[in-house]
Amino acid sequence: MADIIIKNGYILTMDPSMEAIKNGVVVIEDGRIADVCEKTEETADTVIDAKGGVVMPGFVNTHTHAGMTLFRGYADDLALSDWLENHIWPAEAELTASDVYAGTRLACLEMVKTGTIAFADMYFFMEEVGKVVESSGLRAALSYGMIELWDEEKGKTELRKGKAFVSEWNGKADGRISAMYGPHAPNTCSKEFLMKVREQATEDNAKIHIHVLETEAELNQMKEQYGMCSVNMLDEIDFFGPDVLAAHCVWLSDGDMDILRNNNVNISHNPVSNMKLASGISPVTKLLDRGANVCLGTDGCASNNNL
Ligand SMILES: [Zn+2]
Repeated sequence: MADIIIKNGYILTMDPSMEAIKNGVVVIEDGRIADVCEKTEETADTVIDAKGGVVMPGFVNTHTHAGMTLFRGYADDLALSDWLENHIWPAEAELTASDVYAGTRLACLEMVKTGTIAFADMYFFMEEVGKVVESSGLRAALSYGMIELWDEEKGKTELRKGKAFVSEWNGKADGRISAMYGPHAPNTCSKEFLMKVREQATEDNAKIHIHVLETEAELNQMKEQYGMCSVNMLDEIDFFGPDVLAAHCVWLSDGDMDILRNNNVNISHNPVSNMKLASGISPVTKLLDRGANVCLGTDGCASNNNL
């Protein structure tokens, strides 16, 4: 006898042939999918009638800042730098641990309700986010967002906090939580700091979550500062690898796309956020043509406004 049977579902199997079973059954036993088929003789304690609704694997939100749910609708209709520097950062400076706990709970509830089963998050008070993930049943890749701003002392503190989070939370919640390093972006963290983060992540066998070329302003700043774009700079310091999750990647040249593909970097495409903040349009079709791994993210609720 099975635990749960979902019947009368339009089942998207997501197998390589993208087969759909128009009126199918999913059998669940011991917390695992035991069978996906057209008919079953099995019985179960719980039978769910999907009534022709779609039954499919859960969504994975590959870039968000869950705690920002509290800022939904705040400072709407502004371009990224004005929105972030003059509104979001000052508001975030007032946030407490319990605010982030509450905001993340709300975010997790929204994600569960809309079929998301796992998310990659970069924020602060991350131990609060960890606690919420632990109790929610979701999976998450969590990172403490490190912003160094070319301040060496601040950099040391940020890296210490990032490392403490990785050591304490990686593998928690029966392995549902993986902890990553989260250097915010190449235009908020110096090259030297990013090199240290890369080194530390390799040493700790932890992955890295970073924003890359989200805006034209970042591209211009990088060219002025280093004489090259973020992707070239990060490539020069051997930052990239299959353990890197790069969010946004809007302002890419053809050469940048080759670098990301050749290093098997995972690219989180955040179309709604990019439209809302007028950041631009990521060249997703070109990335896919190259065989790059492109996945979807929402970004935080202040730049979406949904998860
Ligand atoms: Zn983001």
